[in-house]
This record gives sequence, C-alpha cells and structure tokens, in this order.
Amino acid sequence: MKLIFASNNKGKIAEVQTLVNNNLKIFSLLEAGITEPIKEPFDTFRENAWAKADYVYRQTGLPCFADDSGLVVPALNGAPGVYSARYAGEPADDAANNRKLLAAIEAMDAPEAYYQAVICYIGDDGTHYFEGRCYGHLVHIPRGTGGFGYDPLFVPNGYTDTFGELAQDIKNRISHRSEAMRSFIAFLNQPEQ
Ligand code: IMP
Repeated sequence: MKLIFASNNKGKIAEVQTLVNNNLKIFSLLEAGITEPIKEPFDTFRENAWAKADYVYRQTGLPCFADDSGLVVPALNGAPGVYSARYAGEPADDAANNRKLLAAIEAMDAPEAYYQAVICYIGDDGTHYFEGRCYGHLVHIPRGTGGFGYDPLFVPNGYTDTFGELAQDIKNRISHRSEAMRSFIAFLNQPEQ
C-alpha cells in the first residue's frame, strides 16, 4: 500500500520507516511533490495532525497520515506542548529549545514529563486518530547524541539513560510515536481495510 506521511522531519521519517519495515511504502511530503509549508494553526495535537493530513489529502487524493507530537511538562502548565518545535521561537532550533527548557526547569528536581503523539489518517473510508504517550522525567544536563529534539533531556520511565543515550531500537519500542504507530498499523492491517 502506498501512503503519504505528511512530514519532512528526517528524524521522524527514519523512525517511522523502521517501524513499518516492508509492510507499507511510505512517501514523504517532498516525494509527494508538496514543497510548501503546511500550517499547524491549532492548540491541540489532534487538530494540528488533522490540519496536515487534510491538506495533503485534498492536494493529492491519496491516503495519507500526519502526526503532531511534542513534549509535555505538567509542572510548566503543559509547555512546550504543541509548541515544542518552536518553543524558543522561529526558526525551529533544537539546541535553543533545549536551552529554554533547561532554564525553565532549573529550580525543579527531575520534573515529570511525557512525549505525546497523535496520528491522523485520512483515507477513502474517512478520518481516524491514533495516540501514544511515553512517560518519564527530565535531567538538567543534556546526555547523548541520539534521537532528536528534547531527547538528550528526557529519561523514559524504567531507564536511567536519556533518549539521547538509549539505542534507537529501544526508543522505537517504547516511544510515543511507536505506540501511536502500532495502533495505526493494526488498523491498516485489519482484514476489511
Ligand atoms: P511536530 O513536528 O509539530 O510534531 O513537532 C514535534 C516537536 O516535538 C519536535 O520538533 C521536537 O521538538 C518535539 N518532539 C516530538 N517527538 C520527539 C521525540 O521523539 N524526541 C524529541 N523531541 C520530540
């Protein structure tokens, strides 16, 4: 099955590609011929995922999915949340985002945090949503060079290493995106699909 993933984020595309193996052929936005940036105008993950999938579906008429994800820190009233990519302003900059987050949690002891991912899939049979979360806590000194975004600051529950230090296959197994993707793939593999 041919599916468009409404993203050009290389980190995410690589992660999703390892999750789906050979079951599905995933096309990026660029491969689908969409070069313009797609707006994420809402303040929930769900609505932003829908906005991207809806745009691509209307442009291409092909089944597509989009994800919206981010890091939620309850002690910061949910920040950076849906604004994770541009927490420190435009243009999006992981290092600047991490510096801003470190400053915000300076006085906190190992604050709890979770990553959240929402996938919106639009196909001929309508619109469907899939969600995943990965709970953990934040550290004050970045560790590791793996992953992307806030990964050097995030320690998932059950581990002592950050996502920046953990092997990619461990992250793939326990991440918010992999949980959402597993539900999505189970949906795609239903006999009636
Ligand atoms: P999106 O591209 O609008 O979904 O924004 C996602 C942003 O949330 C990224 O740019 C990162 O800042 C953050 N994020 C989401 N998932 C991850 C992850 O798995 N690791 C690190 N940061 C993540």
